[in-house]
Amino acid sequence: MNAKTTKTIPILLAVFFLAVLTLSLLFGNKVNAYFRTWVSGRNKAVIDYIRAPQDHSDWELEALSRCSDAPFVLPTHGFIGYLFNDSFTPLKLHTGLDIFGGKQVGQTPVYAPYDGFLTRELDWKSSLILRIPQDPLDPDQQVWVYMTHLADPEGNSLIEAAFPPGTQEAAVKQGDLLGYQGNYSGYPGSPTGIHLHISIVRDDGEGKYLNELHIENTMDPSPYFGMPLNAASALKSSPVCLPLQ
Ligand SMILES: [Zn+2]
Repeated sequence: MNAKTTKTIPILLAVFFLAVLTLSLLFGNKVNAYFRTWVSGRNKAVIDYIRAPQDHSDWELEALSRCSDAPFVLPTHGFIGYLFNDSFTPLKLHTGLDIFGGKQVGQTPVYAPYDGFLTRELDWKSSLILRIPQDPLDPDQQVWVYMTHLADPEGNSLIEAAFPPGTQEAAVKQGDLLGYQGNYSGYPGSPTGIHLHISIVRDDGEGKYLNELHIENTMDPSPYFGMPLNAASALKSSPVCLPLQ
């Protein structure tokens, strides 16, 4: 090692730590969440599961199963790979759950997790939103449940024919079939892994849902499903029911 290298290494290290420090100060919890998702093993688990779902069937939960007296049933079969507050894109927090079915596009059914009124906006190929007039955990407020990726890589919808684009306020019961898991990302030809994304979305107070892309507009799904589903406190992969209170 020559004199020049011995000087360069500490300078590079200092620059690296300063950059990490600055990023942490500016975007603290988002940077944390990104590292936490790696450390928790969830990125690896999702990759392992997508590659060989048959080797990890013990991670899967049954569609329509329910943890003790939780209000929601699980909307689809599969492995809950990513949780609320995970981060797999730098500086973005995941607003819901990603449930990977382990089968091909269009093979894993998606059901309503609770009674409500279903909307599919005119330009929605792969998404649905369920209005629940009385939040089962806080009857004074209305909440929404957003579900997406119900289309093939080209954007051909896998949503049941009963809910065409433009559907407003179709009454559905808990357990009704809504469609099938797909892998449409919103951009034709650039698919995601085959899964259902589901998030619980706040109402704007005037009867309309807020934008589910922002974490502050969504809610921790843990108490709705009776499982530890908030990555900020649940480090374990493949969550199971919380013990009875
Ligand atoms: Zn997701």
